[in-house]
Amino acid sequence: MSQFTAYTGRFAPSPTGPLHFGSLVTALASWCEARAHHGRWLVRIEDTDIPRNQIGAEESILSALNAYGLHADSAIERQQDHLVNYNHIIEALKAQNLIYACSCSRKQLTGLTAYPNTCRNKDLPFEGNAIRLKTPDEIICFTDRIQGQVCENLRQTTGDFVLRRRDRIISYQLAVVVDDMRQGVTDIVRGADLLDNTIRQIWLRKCLNTLQLPHLSSIEPAYCHIPLAMNAHGQKLSKQNLAMPLEETEIVATLQKAFVALGQDWVEADTPEEFLQRAVEHWDLSRAPRHSQLMGIFL
Ligand SMILES: [Zn+2]
Repeated sequence: MSQFTAYTGRFAPSPTGPLHFGSLVTALASWCEARAHHGRWLVRIEDTDIPRNQIGAEESILSALNAYGLHADSAIERQQDHLVNYNHIIEALKAQNLIYACSCSRKQLTGLTAYPNTCRNKDLPFEGNAIRLKTPDEIICFTDRIQGQVCENLRQTTGDFVLRRRDRIISYQLAVVVDDMRQGVTDIVRGADLLDNTIRQIWLRKCLNTLQLPHLSSIEPAYCHIPLAMNAHGQKLSKQNLAMPLEETEIVATLQKAFVALGQDWVEADTPEEFLQRAVEHWDLSRAPRHSQLMGIFL
């Protein structure tokens, strides 16, 4: 399927708060990688977890990306616009007996690391229950471009995992994999906090490939998990620990800091556009720090 072969990267924030320095670093890395490969760069709002969405966050994230000169090559997509597609795919997975309904309460599962696949053979009705994907009892590995080889046996770490919650909210795992396949994403550059989701996503992608749906790309993407920005106390910057939202002033200075955090050389520039143009010329992913912490202290 040739329409899916060109380098396609993406930045996929959740609208749970404004863009902060850590998310700028990730956005900049994925943007530089895409531009250095003369590829496309997409922005997708991951808003399926409706209770977590914050009013105004999407507008604030998009405004910040715009101010920082990080413009998407296609219209911004929102996962909530694709709920019909996710539910259609759940039906297709059901027809292939790759998923099942689970009626376990949160209380029943408290204290368990991995779901013990309790409901796998109960043949429960799909309506009113959570939907889980069957996982194999085998080691699955992939090689991350920054983190190296990562291996996991899902039976031991997560068990059969949820694709749609009882309240019909589509899980992050399903939405992200379906959208990356639908949009033909070839290179996933994102924060290392998502590293431990990747094996689940690789397995789900494998299951989706067996459905042979023409609107989903079957190309296996490359993965690159960028270390997380920490504050002076060694805590990762995130919306949860109230990292400061990015100001839309001192934009060039903040871009320069983000670039250095990624192990890159200092780049002189007067405007965001000039900075980004030079940043692409100097960009070298192999210089990004491999460990969990980026260069520098950011708060
Ligand atoms: Zn169950």
